[in-house]
Amino acid sequence: MQRFPSQLLKGYNNFMSGRFSEQQQRYKALAETGQQPKTLVIACCDSRAAPETIFDSGPGELFVVRNVANLMPPYEPDGHYHSTSAALEFAVQVLKVSDIVVMGHGRCGGIKAALDVNAEPLSPGDFIGRWMHLLKPAAEQIQSNEVMTAGERQRALERVSIRNSIANLRTFPCVQILEQRGKLQLHGAWFDISTGELWVMDAKSGDFGRPGM
Ligand SMILES: [Zn+2]
Repeated sequence: MQRFPSQLLKGYNNFMSGRFSEQQQRYKALAETGQQPKTLVIACCDSRAAPETIFDSGPGELFVVRNVANLMPPYEPDGHYHSTSAALEFAVQVLKVSDIVVMGHGRCGGIKAALDVNAEPLSPGDFIGRWMHLLKPAAEQIQSNEVMTAGERQRALERVSIRNSIANLRTFPCVQILEQRGKLQLHGAWFDISTGELWVMDAKSGDFGRPGM
């Protein structure tokens, strides 16, 4: 017989006796008044880079959309299925978030796949390959760099990809207008899984550095 994963049930029990019981009033208030998160985070699906854990955030604090390699596609009102654009639209137009953070991370499998010239599609749909097309020009440029090691190439693309996603965010009219009005700020961040370090992108130069705490 099929069983619901026991590790999840155990975790849920811990949540109910721990965080939920401690913050019951907050959950209740959020249920009644609705959510008002100030920040949208665009993060990777990777199980090691969960934004709520990294930013130690409670219920109602972060609006999160996760996809393979934390990519923001460009504005394409073509009638196709755009889940990340839908989440962006809701966060900006309805929730009126003041900040958007594109958060990449080290050892990203999606970025690795984008750099792998011999990658075979996992299925006839080649959904990952098609999705990583968003990074094709940047990936090709980095692939041809023979001075860098494989690890350096990967880290370079992880960061170029964050800059790309931020540029793509600006192709959305709602983002462009609100940013010009000073009501919305776009940020890049990169999380190192092995050390826990968070690097943030300088808005002007696009370079990454450790944030001043
Ligand atoms: Zn990833």
